[in-house]
Amino acid sequence: MEGDQQSAREDHDVKQHDAMYIDGSWRPAEGGGTIEVVNPADEQVIATVPAGSARDVDAAVRAARAALPGWAATAPRERAARLAALRDQLAARTEEIAETVTAELGSPLAFSTNVHAGVPLAVCASYAELAGSHAFEEKIGNSTVLHEPVGVVGAITPWNYPLHQIVAKVAPALAVGCTVVLKPAENTPLVAQLFAECVDAAGIPAGVFNLVTGLGPVAGQALAEHEGVDLVSFTGSTAVGKRIGALAGAAVKRVALELGGKSANVILPGADLPKAVAVGVANVMANSGQTCSAWTRMLVHQDRYDEAVELATAAAAKYVPGERIGPLVSAEQRDRVRGYIERGVAEGARVVAGGPQAPAGPGYYVAPTVFADVTPEMTVAQEEIFGPVLSILKYEDEDDAARIANDTVYGLAGAVWAGDDAEAVAFARRLDTGQVDINGGRFNPLAPFGGYKQSGIGRELGPHGLSEYLQTKSLQF
Ligand code: NAD
Repeated sequence: MEGDQQSAREDHDVKQHDAMYIDGSWRPAEGGGTIEVVNPADEQVIATVPAGSARDVDAAVRAARAALPGWAATAPRERAARLAALRDQLAARTEEIAETVTAELGSPLAFSTNVHAGVPLAVCASYAELAGSHAFEEKIGNSTVLHEPVGVVGAITPWNYPLHQIVAKVAPALAVGCTVVLKPAENTPLVAQLFAECVDAAGIPAGVFNLVTGLGPVAGQALAEHEGVDLVSFTGSTAVGKRIGALAGAAVKRVALELGGKSANVILPGADLPKAVAVGVANVMANSGQTCSAWTRMLVHQDRYDEAVELATAAAAKYVPGERIGPLVSAEQRDRVRGYIERGVAEGARVVAGGPQAPAGPGYYVAPTVFADVTPEMTVAQEEIFGPVLSILKYEDEDDAARIANDTVYGLAGAVWAGDDAEAVAFARRLDTGQVDINGGRFNPLAPFGGYKQSGIGRELGPHGLSEYLQTKSLQF
Protein backbone atom coordinates (compact mmCIF):
# COMPACT_ATOMS: atom_id res chain seq x y z
CA MET A 1 0.00 0.00 0.00
CA GLU A 2 2.87 2.33 -0.76
CA GLY A 3 3.45 4.65 -3.68
CA ASP A 4 0.57 6.34 -5.41
CA GLN A 5 -2.04 5.80 -2.73
CA GLN A 6 0.30 7.04 0.00
CA SER A 7 0.98 10.39 -1.65
CA ALA A 8 -2.72 10.97 -2.26
CA ARG A 9 -3.43 10.36 1.40
CA GLU A 10 -0.91 12.95 2.58
CA ASP A 11 -2.69 15.58 0.50
CA HIS A 12 -5.98 14.85 2.20
CA ASP A 13 -5.65 15.60 5.89
CA VAL A 14 -8.92 15.89 7.76
CA LYS A 15 -10.52 19.12 6.63
CA GLN A 16 -13.97 20.59 6.55
CA HIS A 17 -15.84 20.54 3.28
CA ASP A 18 -18.69 22.08 5.14
CA ALA A 19 -20.91 23.48 2.44
CA MET A 20 -23.35 22.52 -0.30
CA TYR A 21 -23.80 24.41 -3.56
CA ILE A 22 -27.35 25.78 -3.78
CA ASP A 23 -28.53 28.65 -5.99
CA GLY A 24 -24.98 29.63 -6.89
CA SER A 25 -23.60 29.89 -3.36
CA TRP A 26 -22.10 27.61 -0.73
CA ARG A 27 -24.03 26.96 2.50
CA PRO A 28 -24.03 24.42 5.37
CA ALA A 29 -26.89 22.00 5.98
CA GLU A 30 -29.84 23.74 7.66
CA GLY A 31 -29.72 21.51 10.73
CA GLY A 32 -25.91 21.69 10.82
CA GLY A 33 -25.52 17.89 10.59
CA THR A 34 -22.42 16.35 9.04
CA ILE A 35 -21.26 13.02 7.58
CA GLU A 36 -17.72 11.65 7.89
CA VAL A 37 -15.84 10.60 4.77
CA VAL A 38 -13.40 7.70 5.28
CA ASN A 39 -10.39 6.66 3.20
CA PRO A 40 -11.04 2.94 2.60
CA ALA A 41 -7.34 2.18 2.11
CA ASP A 42 -6.42 3.11 5.71
CA GLU A 43 -9.80 3.57 7.43
CA GLN A 44 -8.95 7.17 8.45
CA VAL A 45 -11.53 9.99 8.44
CA ILE A 46 -10.45 12.45 5.74
CA ALA A 47 -13.27 15.00 5.80
CA THR A 48 -16.75 15.82 6.96
CA VAL A 49 -19.49 17.10 4.64
CA PRO A 50 -22.98 18.47 5.31
CA ALA A 51 -25.78 16.00 5.94
CA GLY A 52 -28.47 17.67 3.84
CA SER A 53 -32.06 17.49 5.08
CA ALA A 54 -35.42 17.56 3.32
CA ARG A 55 -35.39 21.35 3.83
CA ASP A 56 -32.06 21.67 2.03
CA VAL A 57 -33.43 19.56 -0.82
CA ASP A 58 -36.47 21.83 -0.96
CA ALA A 59 -34.28 24.96 -1.17
CA ALA A 60 -32.26 23.37 -3.99
CA VAL A 61 -35.36 22.28 -5.94
CA ARG A 62 -36.83 25.79 -5.61
CA ALA A 63 -33.58 27.27 -6.94
CA ALA A 64 -33.62 24.81 -9.85
CA ARG A 65 -37.26 25.66 -10.67
CA ALA A 66 -36.54 29.38 -10.58
CA ALA A 67 -33.56 28.95 -12.93
CA LEU A 68 -35.43 26.67 -15.36
CA PRO A 69 -37.17 29.18 -17.67
CA GLY A 70 -33.98 31.17 -18.25
CA TRP A 71 -31.77 28.14 -18.89
CA ALA A 72 -34.35 26.39 -21.09
CA ALA A 73 -34.59 29.57 -23.20
CA THR A 74 -30.80 29.93 -23.48
CA ALA A 75 -29.58 29.29 -27.03
CA PRO A 76 -28.26 25.72 -27.45
CA ARG A 77 -24.97 27.15 -28.71
CA GLU A 78 -24.52 29.09 -25.45
CA ARG A 79 -25.34 25.99 -23.38
CA ALA A 80 -22.78 24.11 -25.48
CA ALA A 81 -20.18 26.78 -24.70
CA ARG A 82 -20.83 26.48 -20.95
CA LEU A 83 -20.45 22.69 -21.13
CA ALA A 84 -17.20 23.08 -23.05
CA ALA A 85 -16.02 25.46 -20.31
CA LEU A 86 -17.05 22.90 -17.68
CA ARG A 87 -15.01 20.23 -19.47
CA ASP A 88 -12.00 22.57 -19.48
CA GLN A 89 -12.40 23.25 -15.74
CA LEU A 90 -12.51 19.51 -15.05
CA ALA A 91 -9.47 18.94 -17.29
CA ALA A 92 -7.48 21.66 -15.50
CA ARG A 93 -8.13 19.94 -12.16
CA THR A 94 -7.42 16.36 -13.32
CA GLU A 95 -4.74 15.74 -10.71
CA GLU A 96 -6.87 17.01 -7.83
CA ILE A 97 -9.87 15.00 -9.04
CA ALA A 98 -7.78 11.82 -9.28
CA GLU A 99 -6.30 12.31 -5.79
CA THR A 100 -9.74 13.02 -4.34
CA VAL A 101 -11.26 9.87 -5.85
CA THR A 102 -8.29 7.81 -4.65
CA ALA A 103 -8.74 9.24 -1.14
CA GLU A 104 -12.49 8.60 -0.88
CA LEU A 105 -12.87 5.46 -3.04
CA GLY A 106 -9.43 3.86 -2.65
CA SER A 107 -8.68 3.18 -6.32
CA PRO A 108 -5.01 3.19 -7.41
CA LEU A 109 -3.97 6.68 -8.54
CA ALA A 110 -3.24 5.63 -12.13
CA PHE A 111 -6.79 4.24 -12.49
CA SER A 112 -8.23 7.37 -10.85
CA THR A 113 -6.32 9.54 -13.31
CA ASN A 114 -7.08 7.58 -16.48
CA VAL A 115 -10.62 6.41 -15.76
CA HIS A 116 -12.26 8.33 -12.89
CA ALA A 117 -10.90 11.72 -14.03
CA GLY A 118 -10.37 10.92 -17.72
CA VAL A 119 -13.63 9.32 -18.88
CA PRO A 120 -15.86 12.20 -17.66
CA LEU A 121 -13.86 14.59 -19.87
CA ALA A 122 -14.82 12.60 -22.98
CA VAL A 123 -18.46 12.41 -21.86
CA CYS A 124 -18.66 16.12 -21.05
CA ALA A 125 -17.02 17.00 -24.39
CA SER A 126 -19.51 14.78 -26.25
CA TYR A 127 -22.45 16.63 -24.68
CA ALA A 128 -20.91 20.05 -25.40
CA GLU A 129 -20.83 18.90 -29.02
CA LEU A 130 -24.35 17.43 -29.00
CA ALA A 131 -25.86 20.48 -27.26
CA GLY A 132 -24.78 22.59 -30.21
CA SER A 133 -25.74 20.18 -32.98
CA HIS A 134 -28.85 18.32 -31.77
CA ALA A 135 -32.08 18.93 -33.72
CA PHE A 136 -34.52 20.23 -31.10
CA GLU A 137 -37.21 20.46 -33.81
CA GLU A 138 -38.28 18.05 -36.55
CA LYS A 139 -40.92 17.89 -39.27
CA ILE A 140 -43.23 14.86 -39.49
CA GLY A 141 -45.81 15.26 -42.28
CA ASN A 142 -47.95 18.30 -41.46
CA SER A 143 -46.53 18.55 -37.94
CA THR A 144 -43.56 20.20 -36.32
CA VAL A 145 -42.31 18.26 -33.32
CA LEU A 146 -40.53 20.22 -30.62
CA HIS A 147 -38.11 18.45 -28.27
CA GLU A 148 -38.28 20.41 -25.03
CA PRO A 149 -36.47 19.97 -21.70
CA VAL A 150 -38.31 17.80 -19.19
CA GLY A 151 -37.74 20.38 -16.44
CA VAL A 152 -36.07 19.95 -13.05
CA VAL A 153 -33.99 16.78 -12.77
CA GLY A 154 -33.26 15.04 -9.47
CA ALA A 155 -30.01 13.11 -9.98
CA ILE A 156 -29.03 10.44 -7.44
CA THR A 157 -25.64 8.81 -7.99
CA PRO A 158 -23.55 5.95 -6.49
CA TRP A 159 -19.93 5.92 -5.34
CA ASN A 160 -18.39 3.40 -7.75
CA TYR A 161 -17.45 5.81 -10.58
CA PRO A 162 -18.32 8.94 -8.64
CA LEU A 163 -17.50 11.65 -11.19
CA HIS A 164 -18.55 9.67 -14.27
CA GLN A 165 -21.98 8.96 -12.77
CA ILE A 166 -22.47 12.68 -12.08
CA VAL A 167 -21.33 13.85 -15.52
CA ALA A 168 -23.37 11.15 -17.32
CA LYS A 169 -26.53 12.72 -15.82
CA VAL A 170 -25.72 16.41 -15.37
CA ALA A 171 -24.10 17.06 -18.77
CA PRO A 172 -27.03 15.83 -20.94
CA ALA A 173 -29.57 17.48 -18.64
CA LEU A 174 -27.82 20.86 -18.90
CA ALA A 175 -27.23 20.35 -22.63
CA VAL A 176 -30.96 20.28 -23.38
CA GLY A 177 -31.98 23.07 -20.97
CA CYS A 178 -32.99 21.14 -17.83
CA THR A 179 -31.85 22.27 -14.39
CA VAL A 180 -30.50 19.82 -11.82
CA VAL A 181 -30.35 18.95 -8.13
CA LEU A 182 -27.65 16.34 -7.49
CA LYS A 183 -27.52 14.05 -4.44
CA PRO A 184 -24.23 12.13 -4.73
CA ALA A 185 -23.34 8.99 -2.75
CA GLU A 186 -22.50 9.66 0.89
CA ASN A 187 -19.20 7.74 0.60
CA THR A 188 -17.81 9.90 -2.21
CA PRO A 189 -19.13 13.47 -1.82
CA LEU A 190 -15.75 15.22 -2.14
CA VAL A 191 -15.41 14.83 -5.91
CA ALA A 192 -19.03 16.06 -6.20
CA GLN A 193 -17.98 19.23 -4.37
CA LEU A 194 -15.07 19.64 -6.78
CA PHE A 195 -17.51 19.18 -9.67
CA ALA A 196 -19.75 21.95 -8.25
CA GLU A 197 -16.74 24.28 -8.05
CA CYS A 198 -16.05 23.55 -11.73
CA VAL A 199 -19.70 24.25 -12.65
CA ASP A 200 -19.44 27.59 -10.87
CA ALA A 201 -16.14 28.46 -12.54
CA ALA A 202 -17.59 27.53 -15.96
CA GLY A 203 -20.08 30.40 -15.69
CA ILE A 204 -23.19 28.22 -15.51
CA PRO A 205 -25.87 30.49 -14.00
CA ALA A 206 -26.94 30.24 -10.34
CA GLY A 207 -29.64 27.61 -9.70
CA VAL A 208 -29.03 25.67 -12.93
CA PHE A 209 -26.98 23.09 -11.02
CA ASN A 210 -27.36 22.47 -7.28
CA LEU A 211 -25.57 20.03 -4.98
CA VAL A 212 -27.07 18.56 -1.80
CA THR A 213 -24.83 16.09 0.03
CA GLY A 214 -26.48 13.72 2.49
CA LEU A 215 -27.77 10.27 3.28
CA GLY A 216 -29.82 8.24 0.80
CA PRO A 217 -32.88 7.59 2.97
CA VAL A 218 -32.96 11.30 4.00
CA ALA A 219 -31.76 13.65 1.25
CA GLY A 220 -32.10 11.06 -1.56
CA GLN A 221 -35.60 10.08 -0.57
CA ALA A 222 -36.65 13.75 -0.19
CA LEU A 223 -35.38 14.48 -3.71
CA ALA A 224 -37.10 11.42 -5.22
CA GLU A 225 -40.40 12.42 -3.57
CA HIS A 226 -40.26 16.17 -4.23
CA GLU A 227 -43.19 17.49 -6.27
CA GLY A 228 -40.97 20.10 -7.90
CA VAL A 229 -38.83 17.40 -9.58
CA ASP A 230 -39.99 16.37 -13.07
CA LEU A 231 -37.57 13.50 -13.68
CA VAL A 232 -35.61 11.35 -11.25
CA SER A 233 -32.45 9.89 -12.73
CA PHE A 234 -31.04 7.24 -10.42
CA THR A 235 -28.00 4.97 -10.58
CA GLY A 236 -27.46 2.47 -7.82
CA SER A 237 -28.76 -0.76 -6.39
CA THR A 238 -31.76 -2.55 -7.83
CA ALA A 239 -33.42 -2.53 -4.38
CA VAL A 240 -33.37 1.28 -4.08
CA GLY A 241 -34.11 1.66 -7.80
CA LYS A 242 -37.35 -0.29 -7.40
CA ARG A 243 -38.44 2.04 -4.58
CA ILE A 244 -37.66 5.11 -6.64
CA GLY A 245 -39.47 3.63 -9.65
CA ALA A 246 -42.53 2.97 -7.48
CA LEU A 247 -42.51 6.55 -6.13
CA ALA A 248 -42.20 7.96 -9.66
CA GLY A 249 -45.00 5.69 -10.90
CA ALA A 250 -47.34 6.85 -8.14
CA ALA A 251 -46.57 10.51 -8.95
CA VAL A 252 -46.64 9.98 -12.77
CA LYS A 253 -43.14 11.40 -12.92
CA ARG A 254 -40.43 10.50 -15.45
CA VAL A 255 -37.75 8.15 -14.17
CA ALA A 256 -34.46 6.75 -15.46
CA LEU A 257 -32.88 3.81 -13.62
CA GLU A 258 -29.37 2.40 -14.06
CA LEU A 259 -29.20 -0.60 -11.75
CA GLY A 260 -27.20 -3.76 -11.17
CA GLY A 261 -25.76 -6.39 -13.49
CA LYS A 262 -24.44 -9.95 -13.72
CA SER A 263 -22.93 -9.79 -17.16
CA ALA A 264 -21.63 -12.77 -19.13
CA ASN A 265 -18.31 -12.95 -20.95
CA VAL A 266 -19.01 -15.66 -23.54
CA ILE A 267 -15.90 -17.23 -25.06
CA LEU A 268 -16.86 -19.24 -28.15
CA PRO A 269 -14.63 -22.17 -29.25
CA GLY A 270 -12.90 -20.27 -32.09
CA ALA A 271 -11.82 -17.33 -29.88
CA ASP A 272 -8.30 -16.31 -28.94
CA LEU A 273 -8.60 -17.88 -25.48
CA PRO A 274 -5.56 -16.33 -23.74
CA LYS A 275 -6.64 -12.84 -24.84
CA ALA A 276 -10.31 -13.36 -23.95
CA VAL A 277 -9.42 -14.66 -20.48
CA ALA A 278 -6.84 -11.94 -19.78
CA VAL A 279 -9.20 -9.13 -20.79
CA GLY A 280 -12.06 -10.84 -18.93
CA VAL A 281 -10.11 -11.03 -15.66
CA ALA A 282 -8.93 -7.42 -16.01
CA ASN A 283 -12.55 -6.36 -16.60
CA VAL A 284 -13.71 -7.96 -13.35
CA MET A 285 -10.80 -6.74 -11.20
CA ALA A 286 -10.93 -3.12 -12.44
CA ASN A 287 -12.13 -0.74 -9.71
CA SER A 288 -12.01 -3.71 -7.28
CA GLY A 289 -14.97 -5.25 -9.07
CA GLN A 290 -17.21 -2.30 -8.20
CA THR A 291 -18.46 -1.91 -11.77
CA CYS A 292 -22.12 -2.53 -12.59
CA SER A 293 -21.27 -3.67 -16.13
CA ALA A 294 -18.44 -6.05 -15.04
CA TRP A 295 -18.31 -9.43 -16.83
CA THR A 296 -18.60 -11.40 -13.60
CA ARG A 297 -19.53 -14.70 -15.29
CA MET A 298 -17.04 -16.20 -17.74
CA LEU A 299 -18.65 -18.86 -19.97
CA VAL A 300 -16.20 -21.30 -21.57
CA HIS A 301 -16.76 -24.33 -23.83
CA GLN A 302 -16.21 -27.60 -21.95
CA ASP A 303 -13.29 -28.61 -24.22
CA ARG A 304 -11.28 -25.51 -23.27
CA TYR A 305 -12.55 -25.10 -19.71
CA ASP A 306 -9.47 -26.37 -17.82
CA GLU A 307 -7.14 -24.23 -19.93
CA ALA A 308 -9.30 -21.14 -19.24
CA VAL A 309 -9.32 -21.80 -15.48
CA GLU A 310 -5.52 -22.09 -15.48
CA LEU A 311 -5.13 -18.84 -17.43
CA ALA A 312 -7.60 -16.98 -15.17
CA THR A 313 -5.85 -18.22 -12.02
CA ALA A 314 -2.51 -16.92 -13.27
CA ALA A 315 -4.03 -13.59 -14.37
CA ALA A 316 -5.76 -13.03 -11.00
CA ALA A 317 -2.47 -13.55 -9.12
CA LYS A 318 -1.15 -10.31 -10.65
CA TYR A 319 -3.75 -8.25 -8.78
CA VAL A 320 -1.87 -7.63 -5.56
CA PRO A 321 -4.10 -5.81 -3.03
CA GLY A 322 -2.78 -2.32 -2.29
CA GLU A 323 -0.77 -2.22 -5.50
CA ARG A 324 -2.71 -3.07 -8.63
CA ILE A 325 -6.07 -3.39 -6.90
CA GLY A 326 -7.55 -1.11 -4.23
CA PRO A 327 -9.87 -1.83 -1.32
CA LEU A 328 -13.65 -1.88 -1.46
CA VAL A 329 -15.35 1.40 -0.65
CA SER A 330 -16.50 0.52 2.88
CA ALA A 331 -16.39 -2.11 5.63
CA GLU A 332 -20.01 -2.91 4.79
CA GLN A 333 -19.21 -3.67 1.13
CA ARG A 334 -16.14 -5.72 2.15
CA ASP A 335 -18.22 -7.83 4.54
CA ARG A 336 -20.94 -8.28 1.91
CA VAL A 337 -18.44 -9.46 -0.70
CA ARG A 338 -16.68 -11.82 1.72
CA GLY A 339 -20.09 -13.22 2.61
CA TYR A 340 -20.68 -14.04 -1.06
CA ILE A 341 -17.27 -15.73 -1.33
CA GLU A 342 -18.10 -17.88 1.72
CA ARG A 343 -21.44 -18.73 0.16
CA GLY A 344 -19.72 -19.79 -3.08
CA VAL A 345 -17.46 -22.16 -1.13
CA ALA A 346 -20.43 -23.54 0.85
CA GLU A 347 -22.39 -24.21 -2.35
CA GLY A 348 -19.52 -26.22 -3.85
CA ALA A 349 -17.69 -23.79 -6.15
CA ARG A 350 -13.91 -24.35 -6.25
CA VAL A 351 -11.64 -21.43 -5.22
CA VAL A 352 -8.68 -21.25 -7.62
CA ALA A 353 -7.51 -17.75 -6.61
CA GLY A 354 -8.13 -15.63 -3.51
CA GLY A 355 -10.85 -16.73 -1.13
CA PRO A 356 -12.66 -15.35 1.90
CA GLN A 357 -9.62 -14.61 4.08
CA ALA A 358 -8.70 -10.91 4.38
CA PRO A 359 -5.36 -9.57 3.16
CA ALA A 360 -3.25 -8.32 6.11
CA GLY A 361 -3.22 -4.72 7.31
CA PRO A 362 -5.76 -1.91 7.55
CA GLY A 363 -8.15 -1.07 4.72
CA TYR A 364 -11.28 -2.72 3.39
CA TYR A 365 -9.48 -5.22 1.17
CA VAL A 366 -10.80 -8.45 -0.32
CA ALA A 367 -8.55 -11.00 -2.02
CA PRO A 368 -9.13 -11.06 -5.82
CA THR A 369 -11.06 -14.29 -6.17
CA VAL A 370 -11.75 -16.75 -9.00
CA PHE A 371 -14.25 -19.57 -8.69
CA ALA A 372 -14.18 -22.62 -11.00
CA ASP A 373 -16.85 -25.35 -11.24
CA VAL A 374 -19.61 -22.77 -10.88
CA THR A 375 -23.06 -23.93 -12.00
CA PRO A 376 -25.78 -21.53 -13.16
CA GLU A 377 -28.05 -21.86 -10.13
CA MET A 378 -25.34 -21.02 -7.56
CA THR A 379 -25.67 -17.71 -5.69
CA VAL A 380 -22.32 -16.48 -7.07
CA ALA A 381 -23.68 -17.02 -10.61
CA GLN A 382 -27.00 -15.28 -9.94
CA GLU A 383 -26.50 -12.31 -7.59
CA GLU A 384 -24.50 -9.15 -8.09
CA ILE A 385 -21.49 -9.35 -5.77
CA PHE A 386 -19.92 -5.93 -6.57
CA GLY A 387 -16.42 -7.04 -5.67
CA PRO A 388 -13.35 -8.64 -7.31
CA VAL A 389 -14.95 -12.06 -7.78
CA LEU A 390 -15.07 -14.00 -11.07
CA SER A 391 -17.17 -17.14 -11.62
CA ILE A 392 -16.16 -19.48 -14.48
CA LEU A 393 -18.96 -21.62 -15.91
CA LYS A 394 -18.86 -24.45 -18.45
CA TYR A 395 -21.17 -24.84 -21.49
CA GLU A 396 -21.74 -27.68 -23.98
CA ASP A 397 -22.82 -25.83 -27.14
CA GLU A 398 -24.00 -22.39 -28.26
CA ASP A 399 -27.63 -22.99 -27.23
CA ASP A 400 -26.44 -23.93 -23.76
CA ALA A 401 -24.18 -20.84 -23.61
CA ALA A 402 -27.06 -18.51 -24.62
CA ARG A 403 -29.39 -20.09 -22.08
CA ILE A 404 -26.87 -19.72 -19.23
CA ALA A 405 -25.93 -16.16 -20.27
CA ASN A 406 -29.59 -15.06 -20.21
CA ASP A 407 -30.47 -16.92 -17.03
CA THR A 408 -30.37 -14.03 -14.52
CA VAL A 409 -32.74 -11.18 -13.65
CA TYR A 410 -30.17 -8.72 -15.02
CA GLY A 411 -29.23 -7.62 -18.54
CA LEU A 412 -26.77 -4.74 -18.46
CA ALA A 413 -23.65 -5.65 -20.46
CA GLY A 414 -21.54 -8.56 -21.67
CA ALA A 415 -18.92 -9.71 -24.12
CA VAL A 416 -18.62 -12.26 -26.91
CA TRP A 417 -15.32 -13.60 -28.23
CA ALA A 418 -15.25 -15.69 -31.43
CA GLY A 419 -13.03 -16.53 -34.40
CA ASP A 420 -14.37 -13.47 -36.23
CA ASP A 421 -16.65 -10.50 -35.58
CA ALA A 422 -19.55 -11.85 -37.68
CA GLU A 423 -19.75 -15.01 -35.58
CA ALA A 424 -19.57 -12.97 -32.35
CA VAL A 425 -22.30 -10.58 -33.57
CA ALA A 426 -24.58 -13.49 -34.47
CA PHE A 427 -24.28 -14.76 -30.91
CA ALA A 428 -24.61 -11.25 -29.39
CA ARG A 429 -28.07 -10.99 -31.02
CA ARG A 430 -29.19 -13.83 -28.77
CA LEU A 431 -28.23 -12.02 -25.53
CA ASP A 432 -30.88 -10.18 -23.48
CA THR A 433 -28.60 -7.33 -22.51
CA GLY A 434 -28.13 -3.64 -23.25
CA GLN A 435 -24.51 -3.67 -24.35
CA VAL A 436 -22.11 -6.29 -25.76
CA ASP A 437 -18.38 -5.91 -26.47
CA ILE A 438 -17.41 -7.78 -29.63
CA ASN A 439 -13.96 -9.44 -29.53
CA GLY A 440 -12.67 -6.89 -27.04
CA GLY A 441 -14.50 -3.72 -28.07
CA ARG A 442 -13.48 -0.21 -27.01
CA PHE A 443 -15.36 2.30 -24.83
CA ASN A 444 -17.47 4.64 -26.93
CA PRO A 445 -18.77 7.70 -25.04
CA LEU A 446 -21.53 8.14 -27.66
CA ALA A 447 -22.93 4.58 -27.50
CA PRO A 448 -26.11 4.11 -25.43
CA PHE A 449 -25.54 2.45 -22.05
CA GLY A 450 -28.32 0.89 -19.98
CA GLY A 451 -30.11 -2.26 -19.07
CA TYR A 452 -32.56 -4.88 -20.26
CA LYS A 453 -34.72 -6.60 -17.61
CA GLN A 454 -34.03 -5.55 -13.99
CA SER A 455 -30.84 -3.70 -14.92
CA GLY A 456 -32.87 -0.58 -15.51
CA ILE A 457 -35.00 1.74 -17.58
CA GLY A 458 -33.59 4.27 -20.02
CA ARG A 459 -30.17 4.90 -21.55
CA GLU A 460 -27.21 7.11 -20.72
CA LEU A 461 -24.50 8.59 -23.00
CA GLY A 462 -24.64 10.04 -26.50
CA PRO A 463 -27.81 11.09 -28.34
CA HIS A 464 -29.86 8.38 -26.58
CA GLY A 465 -28.79 9.78 -23.22
CA LEU A 466 -29.82 13.25 -24.35
CA SER A 467 -33.30 12.02 -25.28
CA GLU A 468 -33.94 10.94 -21.66
CA TYR A 469 -34.06 14.61 -20.66
CA LEU A 470 -36.42 15.72 -23.45
CA GLN A 471 -40.18 15.62 -23.87
CA THR A 472 -41.96 16.09 -27.18
CA LYS A 473 -44.66 18.53 -28.21
CA SER A 474 -46.24 18.28 -31.64
CA LEU A 475 -47.69 21.24 -33.52
CA GLN A 476 -50.14 20.38 -36.32
CA PHE A 477 -50.44 22.64 -39.36
P1 NAD B 1 -27.44 2.48 -3.38
O1 NAD B 1 -28.65 2.17 -4.16
O2 NAD B 1 -27.43 2.16 -1.94
O3 NAD B 1 -27.09 4.04 -3.46
C1 NAD B 1 -27.09 4.78 -4.66
C2 NAD B 1 -27.53 6.20 -4.36
O4 NAD B 1 -28.86 6.17 -3.87
C3 NAD B 1 -26.70 6.89 -3.27
O5 NAD B 1 -26.58 8.27 -3.58
C4 NAD B 1 -27.57 6.72 -2.04
O6 NAD B 1 -27.36 7.71 -1.07
C5 NAD B 1 -28.96 6.83 -2.64
N1 NAD B 1 -30.02 6.20 -1.85
C6 NAD B 1 -29.93 5.16 -0.98
N2 NAD B 1 -31.14 4.90 -0.43
C7 NAD B 1 -32.02 5.78 -0.98
C8 NAD B 1 -33.41 6.02 -0.83
N3 NAD B 1 -34.15 5.29 0.00
N4 NAD B 1 -33.98 6.99 -1.57
C9 NAD B 1 -33.26 7.73 -2.42
N5 NAD B 1 -31.93 7.58 -2.58
C10 NAD B 1 -31.31 6.61 -1.89
O7 NAD B 1 -26.28 1.79 -4.16
P2 NAD B 1 -24.73 1.82 -3.85
O8 NAD B 1 -24.47 0.87 -2.73
O9 NAD B 1 -24.28 3.23 -3.69
O10 NAD B 1 -24.12 1.28 -5.23
C11 NAD B 1 -23.94 -0.08 -5.49
C12 NAD B 1 -25.02 -0.62 -6.38
O11 NAD B 1 -25.31 0.27 -7.47
C13 NAD B 1 -24.69 -1.91 -7.02
O12 NAD B 1 -25.76 -2.80 -6.90
C14 NAD B 1 -24.45 -1.57 -8.49
O13 NAD B 1 -24.71 -2.56 -9.42
C15 NAD B 1 -25.33 -0.42 -8.72
N6 NAD B 1 -24.77 0.43 -9.78
C16 NAD B 1 -25.35 0.42 -11.02
C17 NAD B 1 -24.81 1.20 -12.04
C18 NAD B 1 -25.40 1.24 -13.41
O14 NAD B 1 -25.01 2.09 -14.21
N7 NAD B 1 -26.31 0.39 -13.78
C19 NAD B 1 -23.70 1.97 -11.77
C20 NAD B 1 -23.16 1.95 -10.51
C21 NAD B 1 -23.70 1.18 -9.52
